[in-house]
Amino acid sequence: MSNQIKYLLDEEKLPKTWYNLAADLPEPAPPVLHPGAGQPVGPDDLAPLFPMALIAQEVSAEREIEIPEPVREIYRQWRPSPLHRARRLEEALDTPARIYYKYEGVSPAGSHKPNTSVAQAFYNKEEGVKRLTTETGAGQWGSSLAYAGNLFGLEVEVYMVRISYDQKPYRRALMETYGAQCFASPSDRTEFGKAALAKDPDSPGSLGIAISEAVELAAQRDDTKYALGSVLNHVLLHQSVIGVEAMAQMEMADDYPDIIIGCAGGGSNFAGLAFPFLGAKLRGGADVRIIASEPAACPSLTRGTYAYDFGDTGNLTPLVKMYTLGSSFIPPGFHAGGLRYHGMAGMVSHIKDLGLIEAAAYQQIGCFEAAVKFARSEGIVPAPESSHAIRAVFEQAEQCKREGTAKTILFNLSGHGHFDMAAYTDYFANKLEDRDYDEASLQTALAALPQVAAE
Ligand SMILES: *Cc1c(COP(=O)(O)O)cnc(C)c1O
Repeated sequence: MSNQIKYLLDEEKLPKTWYNLAADLPEPAPPVLHPGAGQPVGPDDLAPLFPMALIAQEVSAEREIEIPEPVREIYRQWRPSPLHRARRLEEALDTPARIYYKYEGVSPAGSHKPNTSVAQAFYNKEEGVKRLTTETGAGQWGSSLAYAGNLFGLEVEVYMVRISYDQKPYRRALMETYGAQCFASPSDRTEFGKAALAKDPDSPGSLGIAISEAVELAAQRDDTKYALGSVLNHVLLHQSVIGVEAMAQMEMADDYPDIIIGCAGGGSNFAGLAFPFLGAKLRGGADVRIIASEPAACPSLTRGTYAYDFGDTGNLTPLVKMYTLGSSFIPPGFHAGGLRYHGMAGMVSHIKDLGLIEAAAYQQIGCFEAAVKFARSEGIVPAPESSHAIRAVFEQAEQCKREGTAKTILFNLSGHGHFDMAAYTDYFANKLEDRDYDEASLQTALAALPQVAAE
């Protein structure tokens, strides 16, 4: 038997529909609330920011939602993405576990994010939008939206968290190659950015601040809308294409996961892989353990509070009930920029609260160690974000070894690390530090959570 096995679906097997977990939940997720009024938000409240088609998906409880043909046509450039059986890694770990990974780094931008950026650009174009604003952490979302916006003839303006803007100049170059404009956030282009700079001229920025800047600009102009790369229900919906494909590929492998693992920043790649399997379980199918893996320096699922909070630092967004560290929390700088978000998708938070998933947090040095071992067996250099999933996989594989059980582990390799080699260089030079968040600033941020009457 060949050592490496790759399960490839035919192009005709590219899913025709996305999967919506809302259809199978034992109880619906708490509503999104209007800040201040405390009432559930309606479509009109969201219309300045998002096209109607995406707002409809945001609140839909339909199980299967059709993927528009123009979106499928673009997906075909890299989808269905491969599912690998990681035999060399299994050998290196000397584990009886069978390890599979779905590889999303084959997309043009190098991560899972184009699964939603292409869909979002399509629906915005359909509704006559000319310009999209957005934030980006490590730069993967910004480059994914830049790629998709260009395909549909939309202008794209990206606010990039300052620390990543400085650490990752090549991501910025990629956005510009696709035709987008990229600004370091906080910037002096928005009222919110100016205020943040006045408070701290050396602010490293945060996703929360960058979101506020992008939202502020979108709300000002009729031809401009805002695009978010994670967290929202419609983003999780678009990412479900990963899990729908993986279910068909596991069938080709004549296997089924006992454990599913994904790294979680806002929760979209994790949900994308896990939700179709969780839905099957909720409809009476096979049991599966699902684990979200997050950074110990920004541990919303494991150390946060389940409460209504803003999605941004400027408190411009509606209130979502989620596991949060507080919207004013600024995590320490660490290399998995895509995981530096204070909150978590409402849907992921809801199922965590219902006990349907587990969460674990890991320090970055152990994650890089796992990523290097993975690269030396499988050849693919993981994104620092994805390395958190790999670290969690190692833990489960080691437990299988101790127990002598041959479990099947499936994880999402959400992207490659080709733009993150400076982080690997720092790791090899022993320059990385394991950063804990500051407990006092966490408590301050949590104390500032908005009071919500409806709770
Ligand atoms: C953005 C990103 C993440 C984190 O975002 P989620 O919404 O939690 O998936 C993880 N991995 C990669 C490669 C990313 O680009």
